[in-house]
Amino acid sequence: MQIAQNSVVAFHYTLTNDAGEVLDSSEGRDPLTYLHGAGNIIPGLEKELEGRAAGDTLNVAVSPEEGYGEVQPQLVQEVPRDAFQGVEAVEPGMQFQAQTQGGPLMVTVTKVEGDTVTVDGNHPLAGQKLNFDVKIEEVREASQEEIEHGHVHGAGGVEH
Ligand code: ZN
Repeated sequence: MQIAQNSVVAFHYTLTNDAGEVLDSSEGRDPLTYLHGAGNIIPGLEKELEGRAAGDTLNVAVSPEEGYGEVQPQLVQEVPRDAFQGVEAVEPGMQFQAQTQGGPLMVTVTKVEGDTVTVDGNHPLAGQKLNFDVKIEEVREASQEEIEHGHVHGAGGVEH
């Protein structure tokens, strides 16, 4: 069965950057499972998986614009320490959900200087060219319910 709109796909992957450093990998874990055509994974990868089948291996290079986007300088902001009420120690690397005009945004603390905290709302992989080594494990048809929900149910998916 070939991957098409509303296929449920399970695949193993190793993600490296241009320097060859491994950024993420499903090795030793369950494969990543997603609903094809529903925007569950980055566009550059989803596009290349179209038409492939279980057992296929492929190498996919994804540009930032088809990955996690370019780095947007306006998403780096300084906020007063007071904005983190209820948090005892604010430290670089901490992540918070921020309320923005565009909806909730995950931000990472990058710097703490006195009463000023710098947060970055860019995805950690924004601006990077990504290389995926992919091995497709399984392809099946989505259930009607999965299509309606826009995600996979059961193993590797949403349990509800
Ligand atoms: Zn659901």
